[in-house]
Amino acid sequence: MKALLAPYRKDEPTHPHPLVSSLPPVTGLGNLVVLSNETLFEMLSHLDIASALDFALVSRRARATLGATLEHRVATKHATHAIGLICRFKLSPYIRFADLKAALHTRQCSSCGGVGDKIFLATAARCCRACLESSDEFKIVELKEANFTQWQQV
Ligand SMILES: [Zn+2]
Repeated sequence: MKALLAPYRKDEPTHPHPLVSSLPPVTGLGNLVVLSNETLFEMLSHLDIASALDFALVSRRARATLGATLEHRVATKHATHAIGLICRFKLSPYIRFADLKAALHTRQCSSCGGVGDKIFLATAARCCRACLESSDEFKIVELKEANFTQWQQV
């Protein structure tokens, strides 16, 4: 509280944008430079989309490293719209580029094994319309069926 009430000092270093670090910019991969590309690719394949995109913001080298991973290349080439929707609906902390790649490399619905022509964005699972509407794996609740009073008690 004292810091909030402290008067502004003209000689105090300030930064025009509070979210930008005053530390010198990272060039390259920082401490990760000691890791082999294979290790970096393996590590990046386990990151969710939000974390992978945060990693890419560190430096040009980090962005290039993420862009060199097979999962990122496949997902950004063939599922650009899905990635946009995943980010828009704030699902990126829960889905990996590897999940999208896996969904793109199969044609089978993950529930019934039939032709899955859709991707359930909440889990990046391949699915068909019939399972999307009926399977417990892709539970969708009509608003009129939802019991909001029960939710408020939790
Ligand atoms: Zn199905």
